[in-house]
Amino acid sequence: MFKLICIIVCLSYLLFQSYAILDLGITGRKIIAGSGIGGMKETQEMIDFAGKHNITPEIEVIPLDYVNTAMERLAKGDVKYRVTGDEDVRFKILYCGICHSDLHCVKNEWGNSTYPILPGHELVGVVTEVGSKVQKYKVGDRVGVGCMVGACHTCESCENNLENHCPKMILTYNAVDYDGTKTYGGYSDHMVANERYIVRIPDNLPLDAAGPLLCAGITTYSPLRYFGLDKPGMKVGVVGLGGLGHVAVKFAKAFGAVVTVISTSPSKKQEAIEVLGADSFLVSSNPDEMQAAIGTLDGIIDTVSAVHALVPLLFLLKSHGKIIMVGAPDKPLELPVFPLIVGRKTIAGSGIGGMKETQEMIDFAGKHNIIPQIEVIPMDYVNTAMERLAKADVKYRFVLDVGNTLKAP
Ligand SMILES: [Zn+2]
Ligand SMILES: [Zn+2]
Repeated sequence: MFKLICIIVCLSYLLFQSYAILDLGITGRKIIAGSGIGGMKETQEMIDFAGKHNITPEIEVIPLDYVNTAMERLAKGDVKYRVTGDEDVRFKILYCGICHSDLHCVKNEWGNSTYPILPGHELVGVVTEVGSKVQKYKVGDRVGVGCMVGACHTCESCENNLENHCPKMILTYNAVDYDGTKTYGGYSDHMVANERYIVRIPDNLPLDAAGPLLCAGITTYSPLRYFGLDKPGMKVGVVGLGGLGHVAVKFAKAFGAVVTVISTSPSKKQEAIEVLGADSFLVSSNPDEMQAAIGTLDGIIDTVSAVHALVPLLFLLKSHGKIIMVGAPDKPLELPVFPLIVGRKTIAGSGIGGMKETQEMIDFAGKHNIIPQIEVIPMDYVNTAMERLAKADVKYRFVLDVGNTLKAP
């Protein structure tokens, strides 16, 4: 029996909250529609069709006095993991970071949640079993899994080690796995994944702090590299000093960049400079400070996942400067085009990275001793942690101590 913690959500919430569509493009001429049950004539027609084609739901018949237990099982999702396949690695989860995405998904703020959800995509632990064809890992290895556990492996993105851009990419939780089962994340005691999606944790990185690198780390490392902000002397801004922002500062500094933190909170200045190593700090609500910094930055990593103004950030860029969005606000941002045209600026997006680059990132972190600042918490603190995360009351990442505090249900 696998031990787990689930975020329990009312089914009616699932039914009525799943309409919002995160990203509806003009391409493909798509429409948004809704549908609920059907008329009585069609209902008879449907059941006659089912009779003709022998369509019967898979069920579990239960006695009436089992109803409360059934409700509990329904709420928990009665999670089943797949067996360890030939190319799979199974590991015991010891720690799992709490990403802001977990909170978005639990609350269905991106409109794509299917409940029950078992969140967690910054999980690390020790290998307990490997399939017969696994080449890179053995029992006892320190490993982790980040945001994805599968992709098609045949498309152009996959062939270029960019599984994160594969149209068939399988997320670590709230997705459907290769075998049709639902994927469940790291707020649990073990994980099974294809070895391509397993990351080796460098020996010198503490396991508890390594977890956040698998999402927050790669999410900031990859755009710094891809957009050429990884060169010594580059002037890099980091907007938002949370889970993503604080590791962005550490990576940018390790690349040799001159780093400015841009934040609404003046109270974070001392820590940004003295603890995280930033070179300067801008309070975004201070017009004098923002005015003085106009045209000074080569690029900005924008980690804010709430709606915020882009124009003041565009003004901070030099000509040809870039803002790379890595936070994911649940509502569209306003983008006046004029400040973009002047100085031929770019606004881009970036999400995690491919598996090759994820291993490269964590090896780089090991080499440069880049360790996220974390607050380790017991499993039964998870709901309080979610409430605190919603208020940005954490420095800078909660990490669940799964190995020591997960109890049997
Ligand atoms: Zn994440
Ligand atoms: Zn693919």
